Amino acid sequence: MEGLLTLRGSSPTRADGRFAPSPTGTLHTGNLRTALAAWLLARAQGGRFLVRVEDLDPGRSRTEHTAGQLADLAALGLDWDGPVVHQSARSGLYADAVAALRRDGLVYRCWCTRADIRAAVAAPHGPAGDGYPGTCAQLTAAQIAAREASGRPAALRVRAGGAVAAFADRCAGTHERRVDDFVVRRGDGAFAYNLAVVVDDHEQGIGEVVRGADLLETTPRQVWLHARLGLPLPSYVHLPLVRGADGERLAKRHGAVTLADRAALGESPSAVRAALAVQLGVIERGAASDPGALVAATETLLRSAP
Ligand code: GLU
Repeated sequence: MEGLLTLRGSSPTRADGRFAPSPTGTLHTGNLRTALAAWLLARAQGGRFLVRVEDLDPGRSRTEHTAGQLADLAALGLDWDGPVVHQSARSGLYADAVAALRRDGLVYRCWCTRADIRAAVAAPHGPAGDGYPGTCAQLTAAQIAAREASGRPAALRVRAGGAVAAFADRCAGTHERRVDDFVVRRGDGAFAYNLAVVVDDHEQGIGEVVRGADLLETTPRQVWLHARLGLPLPSYVHLPLVRGADGERLAKRHGAVTLADRAALGESPSAVRAALAVQLGVIERGAASDPGALVAATETLLRSAP
């Protein structure tokens, strides 16, 4: 049976996996399918499975969302090892990584607003390609002094120098992309996702990162950071996003997309788990779908991988 979890390439050197939701809303069946896939791959490959709450943005993160997300994972029968880790409690680790980049001359301060960036990119001779145009990478001492005097706090960006990063994804294939000078610490002091995810995946011993294909585009930045920080690269599995009937990525307007919505329609969490496992190609419809049976089916799938 050919399914989403029929992966290319060799299995990771470390099997430990994770699910890392942002507590900004209720998980929908797309998120739950990713969580199930990450759990199945970790367990079937004999690894630990960790849950990390990505609550770096204090303005958008809510503890009630964390509670609801963990309850949904538990209802699906997905267990995790050790305590749930919260990124909001790990600023020291991120600050150390920024300090290491700074020592190597790999960060600079940036005062650009979103409007500044849009204007620079749209200018007739604006920089080609996407991402940050590099405006603040080459400010003169006088320009820096003027910006400091404005009192506007600066963000910190990496100096990527137009590097190209490539990686082989076990689901999505080979990817290569120019790395822009992305932000590692925002002007308000919050550390950025791309920095924290690299630091945490390494610090937590994650061997395989399983997540949605919406994060495929940003992965080259993380690959670049791993190399600059001297960290070994995990294996990557980016799964296609679940889409609504209109072809758009799944959202509330598509109807019964959360576990609670499904329960209201009389569908139990085990029935949802079974349906997601069928979508992943782990089992055929109607086959045993308790968590143990799904791990065993995933082991079989991995053994038969090309
Ligand atoms: N927190 C991210 C999200 O919810 C996922 C990050 C990751 O898996 O690397 O989209």
